[in-house]
Amino acid sequence: MSLEISAQKLTVTVLGSGTSQGVPMIGCRCAVCQSTDPRDKRTRSSIYLAAPQANILVDTTPDLRQQILRESLDHLDAILFTHPHADHIMGFDDLRRFCEIQGRPLPIYGSEATLAQIERIFFYAFNPKNKVPGYVHVLPYVITGPFELGGIEITPLSVPHGAVSTLGFLFSRAGRKLLAYLSDCAAVPEPVRALIARVEVLIIDGLRDKPHRTHLTVAGAVEVALAVGAKRSFLTHLTHEKRHVDRARDLPAGVEVAYDGLKFEFDLALL
Ligand SMILES: [Zn+2]
Ligand SMILES: [Zn+2]
Ligand SMILES: [Zn+2]
Repeated sequence: MSLEISAQKLTVTVLGSGTSQGVPMIGCRCAVCQSTDPRDKRTRSSIYLAAPQANILVDTTPDLRQQILRESLDHLDAILFTHPHADHIMGFDDLRRFCEIQGRPLPIYGSEATLAQIERIFFYAFNPKNKVPGYVHVLPYVITGPFELGGIEITPLSVPHGAVSTLGFLFSRAGRKLLAYLSDCAAVPEPVRALIARVEVLIIDGLRDKPHRTHLTVAGAVEVALAVGAKRSFLTHLTHEKRHVDRARDLPAGVEVAYDGLKFEFDLALL
């Protein structure tokens, strides 16, 4: 009985909630970087979804190995990529262990441009003739529109991120909008707001208070969270500008600060 119940849940884990340099930042002695609160230790931004029929990872950060070990993950069915910035792809080679455990190449999903950049850097993983045991091998799938993985519908959300655009993702099931993930964005255009309207949980880029060319500010992220009517929102991709407790204190009801290891679940049996 308990197995049946747990099989009906989608569990989401925030693997990392930090900006590209992580928190603490190398060589910084500020109060945030020296904080002993575990929530002020932010690895690079990523999430993991455990659904009844698929385990999905979003991005392979430079901290991927530590994130995987921390959460004791041992099986991945698919990896989605938001964009090819270093803080979102540089842990890619650590996928090798999953190829070894699972005995087959890993399906990866991203825009054509993102997959091209990943292939340029990790070319050996894309060569089907390369049969070296223990190497990472992947099967690339270009995202051109909504698709489905293990009973979860995934809608790509194109958002501006400075000179480039990134993909966010809306995860739904049976018409229920469960989770929207927008890790790196400078704005959220109207068509995306319409797609994620009244989403149950929104995880959104809330870099810092000071404006940034390629990221939303905290105020910008809060504006989006309230405008789309998300039931619960979490800020991610945070800098060392403020401690977790101080940041959390300033936010309106329904908007929280993500932290590494944060978990929440959706009861799919209700669908
Ligand atoms: Zn980033
Ligand atoms: Zn600092
Ligand atoms: Zn980026």
